Amino acid sequence: LSSRLGNTLRALSGSGRLTEDDVKNASRELRMALLEADVALPVVRDFVERVRARAVGAEVTQSLTPGQAFLRIVQQELVTTLGGETQGLNLRAQPPLVILMAGLQGSGKTTTSGKLALRLKDVDKKKVMLVSCDVYRPAAIEQLRIVAEKIGVECFPSAVGQNPVDIARAALDHARRAYAEVLIVDTAGRTSVDEAMMQEIAALHAAIEPAETLFVVDSMTGQDAANTAKAFADRLPLSGVVLTKVDGDARGGAALSVRTVTGAPIKFLGVGEKSSALEVFHPDRIASRILGQGDVLSLIEETVQKVDRDKAEKLAQKLKKNKRFDLEDFRDQMLQMQNMGGVGAMLEKLPGGAQMQAQLAKANPEKEVGRSIAIINSMTRRERRFPDHIKASHRRRIAAGSGTQVQDVNRLLRQFDQTRDMMKKVASGGMGKLMRGLAG
Ligand code: GDP
Ligand code: MG
Repeated sequence: LSSRLGNTLRALSGSGRLTEDDVKNASRELRMALLEADVALPVVRDFVERVRARAVGAEVTQSLTPGQAFLRIVQQELVTTLGGETQGLNLRAQPPLVILMAGLQGSGKTTTSGKLALRLKDVDKKKVMLVSCDVYRPAAIEQLRIVAEKIGVECFPSAVGQNPVDIARAALDHARRAYAEVLIVDTAGRTSVDEAMMQEIAALHAAIEPAETLFVVDSMTGQDAANTAKAFADRLPLSGVVLTKVDGDARGGAALSVRTVTGAPIKFLGVGEKSSALEVFHPDRIASRILGQGDVLSLIEETVQKVDRDKAEKLAQKLKKNKRFDLEDFRDQMLQMQNMGGVGAMLEKLPGGAQMQAQLAKANPEKEVGRSIAIINSMTRRERRFPDHIKASHRRRIAAGSGTQVQDVNRLLRQFDQTRDMMKKVASGGMGKLMRGLAG
């Protein structure tokens, strides 16, 4: 008997194990969040499947809600996938140690070459040399020369029209004679992956045998990042990734895509245009950025936690079947929103929720919710079920019963009308989906 009671109590307090249904609903939200964060579709599929497999039947410890337990698994899996421990540059190779920069044009190779040189010089106290093998654009060579001058690092001269492999060999020779400890080789990039560019960088790689081959990728390229990464990883043994422009409003999904596709650790993040704007990569930071999209995951957490599943399920069914939406449903809705910290708090967490929020807030400002509920409570059951039949004379009675004015009752009924219209419109889309989601 006592063990049965224990089970019941665990079920009531929301602990025990994650059910298939818990996981199914939460997985759907997770998938949406990852796509919102610009993670490439095949990567999303793999990831969600791994989380799902781990989550079904996972124990929900006493101190966690099912939603929190799921989230924890997502976070762990994300950090593991992103690479767990932070990895720096491999500085143990025989000097001069060569770092080859690879990536598309505009990804940030030249900027990052400067950033790495500065870091190696100041933090690691290394004697660093730079060389540009971007022989197609004079401006590119000049750009690296200026960066080198600014940070006080030698730049081996090169010129447009020279052979990149010859330049790199000469620079390496020079670095050896000058006792440089690190040689950073900046390369050309095309606007999209092409065969000539791949051959060139593969030849460079073969000629100078770099200790580090870093793939530089713009975090703002979103879905494309996965394809670019694959093209480079197919041709070069990448030893690491530098994710640039993370200071912008990139959603972080590129990190997960690139890491999954290349298998190479993300070593640094570019966080600005200045040479000092380089950060060591920490998986948890990007994990939060990815999960921060529309804050969907905290919505998962709250939905599994607080919403009265039965009522939400009924409402969802009703919406799905286009059944009549009445004042009792309206009241349930308000009660649930109150329970979740208000409609604003809930909608803020949904991507695109701001719009819906504005609409609902108009119909239903939070400070009035309590009063609205009181008004509905003062109605007869028949009035709640058939709001369109509430006569003027009844409104006075309802107002008196709820300690409000007739105008308040009228306003509530107007708001109900507007909400009902809106529910009809969105029942098949956003709100209906949301309500079914809430039903867990
Ligand atoms: P490359 O063609 O790969 O050598 O790319 P560049 O190094 O020339 O960078 C292209 C543009 O991106 C330049 O305007 C850089 O200032 C900018 N950039 C590079 N890295 C970052 C970064 O981490 N943050 C920001 N905001 N801009 C960056
Ligand atoms: Mg460049």
